[in-house]
Amino acid sequence: MCEFCIQHGEGKKWYLTMENYSLELLDQEDRREYAAKFLNGFHKRVPPEIRQLDRIRKTPLRMLAKPVLTRNQKRDHYGQVVPMEDVERIFDLVQGAVRLPCVCRRVTTGNMNARYCYGLTMDQQLMDSLDDSFSLETLTKDEALDSIRKLDKEGLVHSVWTFKTPFIGGLCNCDQDCMAYRITHARKDYPVMFRAEWVAEVAADACNGCRLCMRQCQYGAIRYSSNNKKVTVDPTVCYGCGVCRAVCNKDAIALAPRASMKEAVDVW
Ligand code: SF4
Ligand code: SF4
Ligand code: SF4
Repeated sequence: MCEFCIQHGEGKKWYLTMENYSLELLDQEDRREYAAKFLNGFHKRVPPEIRQLDRIRKTPLRMLAKPVLTRNQKRDHYGQVVPMEDVERIFDLVQGAVRLPCVCRRVTTGNMNARYCYGLTMDQQLMDSLDDSFSLETLTKDEALDSIRKLDKEGLVHSVWTFKTPFIGGLCNCDQDCMAYRITHARKDYPVMFRAEWVAEVAADACNGCRLCMRQCQYGAIRYSSNNKKVTVDPTVCYGCGVCRAVCNKDAIALAPRASMKEAVDVW
């Protein structure tokens, strides 16, 4: 269990706790204003922040800055990777979804209308406070799940996101154009999301060594051995997203609870 499960999920998966999606939470701590300001200003605010981070990285200040940035991020806007089966369970807890353009891709690719984000609250006041560039699409649960299942097959990694923790406002579908991927994994600046509560395992007997899964894994967690012509997953690198399963014609990959994997139990 990650620390949010202990703090915000009473020891169960925090993102499967209905209260964390509730209007009662949205009503508190100016969350609507926070979310609207976060989303409306993202593509203007983040590039200067990244430049500032680049400057700090070159100085000894980076060691001091990291815990402060991490603490603030956990308080305000933190994510966790979730595999498709948990996405299905999350949609049992919400009314539907609002699809909107991905703000990270606005920054990293310049595409202002890459529609990979799903708002999990149908709150009209919040929707009205987003600027016109978001052109929201309201989806039923089934429509949202159908479209996210297709993204899963493409290898996009799902994650939930807080807007002033523990309120969960969004579900994202990401590739390496994602700011969270870059800051947490590629640049290793500081963590902005947890890995999933899961880790992938390969059944060696079933694997034919085709290596399709290696191309699907965004995190470089799958290794091939020419010795036995099989792949293995490094549990200390795996994020538990589960998207490698979608390309395996041999059904050789399964997710196991992170808690059951001693090398990965404390790797978040
Ligand atoms: S976390 Fe992913 S889907 Fe969400 S805004 Fe960033 S790249 Fe887009
Ligand atoms: S896709 Fe499946 S069969 Fe192919 S290498 Fe990966 S685990 Fe093995
Ligand atoms: S090996 Fe792990 S990180 Fe890579 S795609 Fe599979 S579940 Fe995701």
